[in-house]
Amino acid sequence: MRYVSTRGDDTPRRFCEILLEGLAPDGGLYLPERYPRIDAATLGRWRVLPYADLAFEILSLYIDDIPADDLRALCRRTYTRSTFGSDAIVPLRMLEPGLFVEALSNGPTLAFKDMAMQLLGALFEYELARRGERLNILGATSGDTGGAAEYAMRGKQGVQVFMLSPHGRMSPFQQAQMFSLQDANIHNIAIEGVFDDCQDIVKAVAADLDFKRRHRIGSVNSINWARLVAQVVYYFAGYFQATRSNDELVSFAVPSGNFGNVCAGHVARMMGLPIQRLIVATNENDVLDEFFKSGRYRVRAAAETRETSSPSMDISKASNFERFVCDLLQRDTVATRQLFGERVVRDGGFALDAATHARCASYGFVSGRSGHADRLATIRQVWEQQHDLIDPHTADGLKVACDLRQPGETIVVLETALPVKFSETIVEAIGQQPERPAALAGLESLPRRVEVMPADVARVKALIALHDRHA
Ligand SMILES: *Cc1c(COP(=O)(O)O)cnc(C)c1O
Repeated sequence: MRYVSTRGDDTPRRFCEILLEGLAPDGGLYLPERYPRIDAATLGRWRVLPYADLAFEILSLYIDDIPADDLRALCRRTYTRSTFGSDAIVPLRMLEPGLFVEALSNGPTLAFKDMAMQLLGALFEYELARRGERLNILGATSGDTGGAAEYAMRGKQGVQVFMLSPHGRMSPFQQAQMFSLQDANIHNIAIEGVFDDCQDIVKAVAADLDFKRRHRIGSVNSINWARLVAQVVYYFAGYFQATRSNDELVSFAVPSGNFGNVCAGHVARMMGLPIQRLIVATNENDVLDEFFKSGRYRVRAAAETRETSSPSMDISKASNFERFVCDLLQRDTVATRQLFGERVVRDGGFALDAATHARCASYGFVSGRSGHADRLATIRQVWEQQHDLIDPHTADGLKVACDLRQPGETIVVLETALPVKFSETIVEAIGQQPERPAALAGLESLPRRVEVMPADVARVKALIALHDRHA
């Protein structure tokens, strides 16, 4: 399998060449040159596989530069009961006939980002060892991504993580989760500022090409293809659990922000998984809902991006969206470049013509939006009727699934986080604290490793240089 850019760079690259990179050199996102099609016999064979072996089968269609035995071993080491809490890895539960929740958030940080990030950690360690190289991962986080990256990379050979977060602004639980890590290769840096200040520092460091090269600065952001392909696996696993035979259709409802999760659903559907609809659920930051309803993609300004009670979906632009639009334009990379490389930059967005917009439906896409009151009502209702507790992001997905569900349609709602991470909203919804997994008792009182610093690029660079020398 070879990878090409959404903006036209068609230098063929293999998986391990793009693994440690972010954007393609022309500013586009990497896509496989084609999606492998799964035939009925293969789908039948996959239905009975354990999760780790299913992951191996799917990944090996996209990765042909890691020996099969090594890749299988990486998958088996990653998707274990001890890391994800059950043999099913992504167990499905029924809310009512035809309506299911697929648990993607039983990994170490209790959010679905662990599903991909845990594999990324194993792949990074493997590839760096093979090359005899090391990597310093620099990132900015306001919540789930930073924690998932740290828990994936902790103790890994050849990798150090420098994670910037806005001082005092993450939830107490998220702070405790990240700052309690004592691994020598994990560095928490709390910046006296807001999330945008953290992100600006990351951009400034990455723009210093000499520093970047000298200290081998990398990232683990959501546009990484390896993360996306790892997420394709749980669409197959969810489908198999929700059906008895491969001629049934299933829809997925996906709480969405940067369009990474649901883009993996799009890839699964392109591979031939019998997915009826991909239901994109947004919160008040409804960039994507606006697009699927109107064909107009309008990036929001920072001041227009609202802080909500499903904070991991508070985005101003959907960074993975370019991949889907490139497919929607039937891989017209000149047109994709015009939309994302020019129109978004110059006009802050674009509007598709009616015929192109209408094609979104043939890719299965529909969308809806949820707000704070919807979230609370949905959490309360599921709690009262099923005695099942869901988190605010999953509630956005369920609310939109219920709004759009058609007679006879089977819908799997992806559970993207556990309620314990967002206890304030849970208390507001049901008047009591969510239960905490036993392993996390006393998390807030563990000793912390975090350095607080002003929003100063030079100070952050000095810290990286210091630790890089001692690596
Ligand atoms: C990241 C995240 C999302 C959004 O996923 P995207 O891939 O960015 O669309 C939704 N819910 C939770 C809990 C998340 O952490």
